[in-house]
Amino acid sequence: MKFNPENYNIKDQPGLPFIDQEEIERILGAAIPDRNSVERIIQKSLNKQRLSMQDVAVLVNTTDPELIELIKEGAKTLKETVYGNRIVLFAPLYIGNFCSNNCRYCGFRASNPHAERRTLSHNEIIKNVEALEENGQKRLILVYGEHKTYSADYIAETVRTVYQVKKGNGEIRRVNINAAPMDLEGFKKVHQAGIGTYQIFQETYHPQTYKKYHEGGKKANYEYRLTSLDTAFQAGIDDVGIGALFGLYDWRFEVMGLVRHVNHLEACFNVGPHTISFPRLQNASDIDIDEDYLVSDEEFVRIVAILRLAVPYTGMILTAREPRHIRDEVLQFGCSQIDAGTKIELGAYAEEFKQAQNLDKEQFLIRDDRSLNEVIDELLGHGYLPSFCTACYRKGRTGEHFMEFSVPGFIKRYCTPNAILTLAEYLMDYAPEATKEKGWKVITENIMQLNGFNRKDELLNRIERIRQGERDIYF
Ligand code: SAM
Ligand code: SF4
Repeated sequence: MKFNPENYNIKDQPGLPFIDQEEIERILGAAIPDRNSVERIIQKSLNKQRLSMQDVAVLVNTTDPELIELIKEGAKTLKETVYGNRIVLFAPLYIGNFCSNNCRYCGFRASNPHAERRTLSHNEIIKNVEALEENGQKRLILVYGEHKTYSADYIAETVRTVYQVKKGNGEIRRVNINAAPMDLEGFKKVHQAGIGTYQIFQETYHPQTYKKYHEGGKKANYEYRLTSLDTAFQAGIDDVGIGALFGLYDWRFEVMGLVRHVNHLEACFNVGPHTISFPRLQNASDIDIDEDYLVSDEEFVRIVAILRLAVPYTGMILTAREPRHIRDEVLQFGCSQIDAGTKIELGAYAEEFKQAQNLDKEQFLIRDDRSLNEVIDELLGHGYLPSFCTACYRKGRTGEHFMEFSVPGFIKRYCTPNAILTLAEYLMDYAPEATKEKGWKVITENIMQLNGFNRKDELLNRIERIRQGERDIYF
């Protein structure tokens, strides 16, 4: 896809801050939504063009319920026509919750006297990964507090450990990380360990709010955080995830900040983020937040729809922070990845019995605690195609998010067949009978819809090979 030069700013230089609060406020102040402009902007996105900051401001300022419906419908159409019905599944694995920062919204903050601190030992990591594999997980994101214990060497070592764990037919094929910024050498080390996405959230793009909520430690430096992905790119990591924590400041400003961040990465590195996350603030141990900017369910749905339209090529991650009914609703507006079977208490995957959440041991409250199979079963029931695909990343087809989006037929040739193959593996190895039945039905329907895919016989042959016990075969 061609990036839109109107989005670029002469000021964008790798390593230099790029958020201009006044510019964002000016654009927001000048954007007046009317039916014509909203329709034109939605059409622009459906034509697979990136929206400008001015376009996004119009969508963000829209309050007329009829026009909001148009925005939601537009996002839904974009998702259906461009991405189809695949939903990629993953799970978070918290490695350690020691933290020297003081983010007022987080249960892990250094000044929280109630937090029970723990770092998984090598053996505990193995036990937890085995448990995740026994459930059928193939993709993980490892999460760490910001602490001297979690050096780049340590993080790289934990990534390598996870890749080495094999239990039965299980293996983790993609390890993403969410960890504090590193220096150039540090990023090189974790890159060499084979991470998928490096994910880090700015939390809030609004400088004063950032200052208010980040009371100590390295993370208190707004600009250091803001430019950390530039350092990651300079170290050779070209697969990054951005995000904002919704509820700290006006969501309209945060959406504009995220889009500005995308523009910056495109301008500097000719590639945007692989994923955008939009976590919404949840209760946590001993937190200290103002409630002025909490985001309602209705606003949350709008945020997702607007982000989908604003950056049509990017993966969008919806996490178990959200309750089940919101996840169901929001999925249709463009989310492509969700976590499932999520446990965020350190070490909890290896524990046999499900415990109630204890906030002193966790970062925040999760509101969807269904098992991986419960989620898969429900996705199948709604006609989605759950996927554990990791093919592009392993085949070296980097930038797959662009390819799915901009290479005609890419989804048909690669994404859908690979989703089918990974689902078939799941059904064979981990699913109970009722889910199996639903799953094979969804696979059959999806194969029938693969019109024009000229390797259908090969796909059928590969499914048969999976039935016979072969694993990890992909296009
Ligand atoms: N220490 C790393 C950092 O700060 O980048 C790891 C991040 S943390 C383990 C993952 C994300 O969870 C944070 O970036 C933040 O957006 C989010 N988070 C923190 N507290 C939260 C809360 N109370 N509710 C929802 N999300 C929260
Ligand atoms: Fe530490 Fe991250 Fe929590 Fe901040 S958000 S206190 S850096 S774990």
